[in-house]
Amino acid sequence: APTIGVFALQGDVREHMRALADAGASVVAVRRPQELERVDGIVVPGGESTTMWKLATAFELLEPLRLRIKEGLPAYGSCAGMIMLADRITDGIAGQETIGGIDMLVRRNAFGRQVDSFEADVTLRGVEGGPMRAVFIRAPWVESVGEGVQVLGAVETAGSTDRIVAVRQGHLLATSFHPELTGDPRIHEYFVDMVREH
Ligand code: GLN
Repeated sequence: APTIGVFALQGDVREHMRALADAGASVVAVRRPQELERVDGIVVPGGESTTMWKLATAFELLEPLRLRIKEGLPAYGSCAGMIMLADRITDGIAGQETIGGIDMLVRRNAFGRQVDSFEADVTLRGVEGGPMRAVFIRAPWVESVGEGVQVLGAVETAGSTDRIVAVRQGHLLATSFHPELTGDPRIHEYFVDMVREH
């Protein structure tokens, strides 16, 4: 089984670890650079991207993550994790940095106050078995993507605007929503397959 690490300095780490184990991975928590060395893939959980950035910097994990991902380490980010995998963000706090990797612009807390938290059915390209019930919690959306990025799913917002909520760029995957919270195994299975194929 592939060994998949979960970035464990902040966020819903345990939920991702459980979902990855259910999907057949061998799972480890990653808090220190050395723990990154032995993983075949990494998940950045939901949580708070500003805190993740600060802690990753303090624990000297930000640069090693950037490097490994640049070298081809498969990564999946949900919600705050999506923000962390974005090359560019908007509505971040002053100076906020990301790990980066996916050629996209992500807007933090994009869905606005009245829908701080909501659920929607999302049909995902490449994921069989019908639409997925997706939970959004102060979620980001993807404002725009570069040429190499495949849009996997979108939701319709006020004014009938479609907003991108799932993307893939080669070895990198990101969703605005939290499959680790709903018990639908398909995204974690999809990522474990990505790691296996890599
Ligand atoms: N709003 C959070 C952030 O900016 C993300 C929310 C989440 O991960 N549920 O990091």
